[in-house]
Amino acid sequence: MRVLVLGGGGREHALAWAIARSPLLTKLYAAPGNAGIADLAECVALAIEDGAAVAGWARRQAIDLVVVGPEAPLVAGVADACRAAGLAVLGPDAAAAQLEASKAFTHEIAAACGAPMAAHAVFEDAGAAKAHLRAMDGPAVVKADGLAAGKGVVVAETLAEAEAAVDAMLGGQFGAAGARVVIEERLVGEEASLFALTDGETVLEIGSAQDHKRVGEGDTGPNTGGMGAYSPAPVLDAALAERAMAEIVRPAIAEMARRGTPYRGVLYAGLMITAAGPKLIEFNVRFGDPECQVLMLRLGSDALALFAAAAEGRLAGIAPDWKPEAAITVVMAAKGYPGAYEKGAEIRGLAAAAGIEGVTVFHAGTAAREGRLVATGGRVLNVTATGADLAEATARAYAAVDAIDWPEGFCRRDIGWRALGR
Ligand code: ATP
Repeated sequence: MRVLVLGGGGREHALAWAIARSPLLTKLYAAPGNAGIADLAECVALAIEDGAAVAGWARRQAIDLVVVGPEAPLVAGVADACRAAGLAVLGPDAAAAQLEASKAFTHEIAAACGAPMAAHAVFEDAGAAKAHLRAMDGPAVVKADGLAAGKGVVVAETLAEAEAAVDAMLGGQFGAAGARVVIEERLVGEEASLFALTDGETVLEIGSAQDHKRVGEGDTGPNTGGMGAYSPAPVLDAALAERAMAEIVRPAIAEMARRGTPYRGVLYAGLMITAAGPKLIEFNVRFGDPECQVLMLRLGSDALALFAAAAEGRLAGIAPDWKPEAAITVVMAAKGYPGAYEKGAEIRGLAAAAGIEGVTVFHAGTAAREGRLVATGGRVLNVTATGADLAEATARAYAAVDAIDWPEGFCRRDIGWRALGR
């Protein structure tokens, strides 16, 4: 099969790595890719949010499967354009990608199918929103309805903070993404992510993970794209995962089909495990980054066969194999991230790191310059390892971190702390 992966981060390196192991693969392309992906795929320059450009190129190259990594191309309709051109694609159409692009839409679908979420209300008017905040019993969470690069959520400690968030969002802080705000009650519990793969009808659970969003140890400091993740998530045992599939994931996918906008692709359910059971915080319409890295290391089955089956409506009867091992990924970022950081510093020692048992190093923001590997992004490397248990995987991952010679980079030293302490 001839495959095109869209994206150029650690998630896409992990997808390319898993796909490249398949005997079904004859040629792999990535757009734009990165220096790590370039070892596995031919990297091409394509406007990946332009459906006509992607579909046209893929048709000319006789691509058999397009795998979309990030959400932006999906929300922009790239999967629609590919399907219209007769291409198989892993990822939902724009109408179904609203499950990530609009938090109010997610609430609407959850209400229609009975999936438990936080109590909520939607506002376009600041006065009405603030009256609602004042009438609430407990603390509030204020969210911009649309995509705000992970910055559109304020878990408010005080009424004043919640009101300020309403004013900022409805005042244009996030442009059109904040033209509506969703106000939710604050849920209490431990967070975990559950992943599903679906062709629109058949839904397979494909694992759980937990991530670390804050830049600092002990989950402190500003939010980032994610500083590390591990799988499985111990808090989401088999019974709870099945409950979340039965109460949240399968009903939401069935509701999308019922509406004539079937959801096809990877569905990421961000959950709060409350005293009353799992509740949905958010859906994402693709793999998480860095959660994808740990899931791909644990997948025992042929990833390409699985993704192609999902894209072609053939998932019924398929039961993928998962390795019993635990996997962890430690993100190495440029010093200063998520604020300003330097680009261009050389990275050495990757071969030594990758030589450690169980370790795979995925690239996120890297480039090859005159035979040297240099850092070009905020999140730069994902040092990923498997082990018999999370403790072994973690020891291997940090041994690999220590083998990497990149003084301009840093990582958190406590990835997995919550699970390791259980
Ligand atoms: P992400 O960067 O995870 O994609 P996002 O901007 O799409 O984030 P959400 O996932 O909805 O937004 O919320 C971000 C974080 O805020 C959650 O991971 C959770 O920690 C917290 N949060 C959101 N909603 C609630 C809630 N109702 N109760 C408690 N915490 C919440």
